[in-house]
Amino acid sequence: MNNKELIEFDKKHIWHPYTSATKPQDCLVVKKANGVYIELEDGSKLIDGMSSWWSVIHGYNNSELNKAIKKQTENMTHVMFGGLTHRPAIELTKSLLSIVPKGLEHIFYSDSGSVAVEVAMKMALQYWHAKDKNLKNQFLTIKNGYHGDTWHAMSVCDPETGMHHIFNNKLSIQNFLPAPKSKFHDKFDPDEIKPVEEFLAKKNGDIAAFILEPIVQGAGGMRFYHPNYLKAVRNLCTKYNVLLIADEIATGFGRTGKLFACEHANISPDILCIGKALTGGYLSFAATLCSSDVATTISNASPGIFMHGPTFMGNPLACSVALASINLLLKSNWESNIKRIEKHFNDSLPELEKLEAVSNVRVMGAIGVVEMKNPVNMDEIQKEFTKQGIWMRPFGKLIYTMPPFIISNSELLKLTSGISKTIIKLYGNAK
Ligand SMILES: *Cc1c(COP(=O)(O)O)cnc(C)c1O
Repeated sequence: MNNKELIEFDKKHIWHPYTSATKPQDCLVVKKANGVYIELEDGSKLIDGMSSWWSVIHGYNNSELNKAIKKQTENMTHVMFGGLTHRPAIELTKSLLSIVPKGLEHIFYSDSGSVAVEVAMKMALQYWHAKDKNLKNQFLTIKNGYHGDTWHAMSVCDPETGMHHIFNNKLSIQNFLPAPKSKFHDKFDPDEIKPVEEFLAKKNGDIAAFILEPIVQGAGGMRFYHPNYLKAVRNLCTKYNVLLIADEIATGFGRTGKLFACEHANISPDILCIGKALTGGYLSFAATLCSSDVATTISNASPGIFMHGPTFMGNPLACSVALASINLLLKSNWESNIKRIEKHFNDSLPELEKLEAVSNVRVMGAIGVVEMKNPVNMDEIQKEFTKQGIWMRPFGKLIYTMPPFIISNSELLKLTSGISKTIIKLYGNAK
């Protein structure tokens, strides 16, 4: 099949994320990817501004990660995890436990971020079941959150701006507090915490856990909020006997300038979800970690076991490449590298605020966001980005980038000038 035939076949038969089967977009056909470059069938190369949705932190076709996978293939690519274990899982666990926020001591592996969130929610429910507090069966969260596409993960996504509003009257009703307003770099307004305190004082008897993305709200709005908010939530959860679930699926492994975003507030959750960059973007893999209080409480009461067990749990290929990815991250100069990317974004993107169509530019760690006043036309803007030699995937009003950490300064310049040129070309009237 030639390039055109590939695209036509794809459009006719294959679903892509959030797309129509009858009016699909023309997808670009990727032949290979190397470093920060995505190479298309027609030979053109695009600089990846997305890290394939936060995950490919070391770039594509990394020789150390390739080596780890190849080596593991020679031993086994998979064995069931019921009753069997293996070095890759054990070594990965040892490494993870040494870097996650303190107090997390048990780990549950699964296949994707959404499943890791389901597992976290189930852990919270089973924890209160074990304590004979079955009325604590609802969840509390904040608006503008995103926690995945499966059923209960979806129920804690933003109910209005989120992508799941059409399911609202079919999902479990959860409890939503206003999204925190004080921005990461601004002064904290202590009044923000009042709704949390008021809610928990009244309703803590109904709430199993407070689930949120620490510091950076990703797909629900790309918002960076103040560490004092997270600190206060941690304290209030403890005070009112509610578990805290931190969803670090997007933020984990350095993206925000700390290994885990919880570190900005110096807190530990009771339950932590990780995924996306866990394998350096090589394989679909995720994990839910919990404190020994959560693990032992669940295990010391009837039925004495945690009720979950995916077929591909603890997949050895995924464990091996995850371990290699963490080792690579830790031995790289990741902190100064993130600062370098952050500085470049801060030097180059804010000038876009001069445009009438741009509402706000914000930067945190290796994340750059240009929020427009109106939603962008995705087909139109993506064609222009591609012409500029960059791969971007905006949603709604948000044009955002989080490139692989290995991106060089000249590639960064090409990325941000491509973003600027595109926005100026399509929406370029100054204020
Ligand atoms: C992407 C994401 C998820 C869902 O992960 P999948 O692997 O897509 O299922 C959950 N929570 C957050 C914060 C995410 O960014």
